[in-house]
Amino acid sequence: MEFSVLADAFSKMESTTKRLELTQDLVELFEKTPQDVISRIVYLLQGKLRPDFEGIELGVAEKLAIRAIAKSSGSDNAEKKIEEEYRKGGDLGQAASKILEQKEQTTFMVQDITVERVYENLFTIAKLVGSKTQDRKMKYISGLLNDANPIEAKFILKILLGTLRLGIAENTVMDALAITFTGNKENRKILEHAYNVSSDLGKVAEAIASKGLQGIEKFEINLFNPIRPMLADRVKSEYEAMEKLGNAFAAEYKLDGERIQLHIEGENVRLFSRSLENITSYYPDIVEKIPKAIHAEKVILEAEAVAINENTGDFLPFQELMHRRRKYQVEKAVLQYPITVNFFDVLYYNGKSCLETGYKERRCLLEKIVKEDNFAKHIPMTIINNESEIEEFLENSINSGCEGLMLKMLDKPYQAGSRGSYWLKLKREYRNELGDSLDLVVIGAFFGKGRRTGKYGTLLLATYDDDNDKFTSICKVGTGFTDEDLDQLYQILSNKVTIKKNPKIDSAMEADVWFEPELVVEVVASEITLSPIHMAARNQIRKDTGLALRFPKFTGKIRLEKNAEDASTNEEIMTLYKGQKKVAHSKNLM
Ligand code: ATP
Repeated sequence: MEFSVLADAFSKMESTTKRLELTQDLVELFEKTPQDVISRIVYLLQGKLRPDFEGIELGVAEKLAIRAIAKSSGSDNAEKKIEEEYRKGGDLGQAASKILEQKEQTTFMVQDITVERVYENLFTIAKLVGSKTQDRKMKYISGLLNDANPIEAKFILKILLGTLRLGIAENTVMDALAITFTGNKENRKILEHAYNVSSDLGKVAEAIASKGLQGIEKFEINLFNPIRPMLADRVKSEYEAMEKLGNAFAAEYKLDGERIQLHIEGENVRLFSRSLENITSYYPDIVEKIPKAIHAEKVILEAEAVAINENTGDFLPFQELMHRRRKYQVEKAVLQYPITVNFFDVLYYNGKSCLETGYKERRCLLEKIVKEDNFAKHIPMTIINNESEIEEFLENSINSGCEGLMLKMLDKPYQAGSRGSYWLKLKREYRNELGDSLDLVVIGAFFGKGRRTGKYGTLLLATYDDDNDKFTSICKVGTGFTDEDLDQLYQILSNKVTIKKNPKIDSAMEADVWFEPELVVEVVASEITLSPIHMAARNQIRKDTGLALRFPKFTGKIRLEKNAEDASTNEEIMTLYKGQKKVAHSKNLM
């Protein structure tokens, strides 16, 4: 397949953010795509080469890309010219395209480039290790650029640099696949199931293109391919929980650690985070000790890893555990920050999926599979029949250093990839009026003064608008930071600075610096108010008005295990806003 077909489609999609138009563009592209290329097209659309959990990263630095463009342009002084263009427009792909346009008039292309060739070359670049890596990467990149026309070059570079942001949500890709290959958008539901059990959209695309719906319906869980996690809705009170769950349900402690999906076959262990990143290397202690506690040949389990005080066995806060997220001196971190692994679910057992099995049966099976010791534990669970039992269990959980409770319907399946009502979370802070914590994306910052000079003193935060794939501003936050937090945030965020505001950011407020919308932090606030400035849930309650947080405060949690798309959504903020109004109303009545 000619790469120009894909580059033209990219150009078209770049000029719109409307979901319907994007879907239509994708359908047109898929119709032109041969079966054996479709998975590669789906990955490239998302700026990837393989699903996230395989951890394949291109890792091409801007400097190297500039050298490669200069080499291909064949003009004198090219590096300087490219840097100038880049500074003006803030987009290196675009700058390359401009520079190479000048070349096109003097030389002609040597060889047509195909999607297959671009993909293979990018893959080779991603896999290169060892000596002279930079030179070898450069050779591949300029080889491609030599044969590419300016538009193709622009997109090749965007993929290489990780700046291809077409704003295509996974759901939009699935809509387009359903329309192209089944003629009916409603079939997306079936595709979703396949995606939820495989976390691999390319594989789903290949199956529907080659085998139609039949291929998709047969999608099965594969050990070592992560399953998209089931998430919980929040409730504010024991009363609300009883109303939603009925008279008998399970309550488990909600531990404050890192969620881990464990795939185990004998001594072979692979660990995935909540956002399905392969995190096996951070936890060599789990890899070593857990197989001894497992009674199954092949199994997929879910657990919360929690940092503990080794002397008392008490749970420690989540921040302690994040020290484990490091590339070097992992062994030292294992000794410094000991953990326990607290199991709460089983998703696959000896070749069979457990997703359709009810909670109660899964829990029994889990207790059989995991033999407890001082490292592997079952999360404490009890069956609840009335409000006072929840209250008591919640108190116990908080006293043991947990965040609250997870409440689960007894007979319900595991709903991979969705936030439904079969699981509810009740945190202590939800019982205050708003007092609720929110996970927000850092989109910008303002430089600090006084003690904070040279650091980011105040952050600009956003919610995720999942309908439009945008990050909408909701507040500035400047309180709750310790000096250590400010240092750490500066370190992380200075790698995410962008010259221009990312088009996915929706903010009328101007920040001193803009970031790639990637880092998630947790904040609490006293209230959600209407705001003429902020863009969260804009126009949904009142015209030209959005929602903002009043008195926001950083809780100390940098949520490295979350993707920006996992942040609190505008829909959740709207629900909290409405809930808060109800409370105020009922108080006025009292
Ligand atoms: P939060 O921000 O509250 O941690 P989340 O957005 O990460 O939530 P939710 O579905 O809202 O995800 O809450 C479930 C999270 O709680 C899980 O991701 C898991 O990390 C953690 N957790 C702790 N204890 C349990 C438990 N017993 N059962 C399920 N999840 C648990």
